[in-house]
Amino acid sequence: MQIFTCPFCGPRDETEFHFAAEAGKKRPIPAETVTDDEWAEYLYMNSASRGKAQEVWLHVTCGEFFLMTRDTVTRDVTAVTSLPGRNA
Ligand SMILES: [Zn+2]
Repeated sequence: MQIFTCPFCGPRDETEFHFAAEAGKKRPIPAETVTDDEWAEYLYMNSASRGKAQEVWLHVTCGEFFLMTRDTVTRDVTAVTSLPGRNA
């Protein structure tokens, strides 16, 4: 079991969290011209790189999305921050 820290609620069991997306992916626009393959690429394809990664996570309990910086190999979490425009 691992403990993640929600920037709004504090430390909680990892079972309360869900991975949402890799941070920094560019949403294809304009939507009316985006092909199905482009949407699928955006929604489902991740680099899944080894090492340091910045990801968007959801704390299901409070419903807030936030940024988590972690090492995908060691599972060490080095930072959690609220998304821009949200105050923790
Ligand atoms: Zn929370």
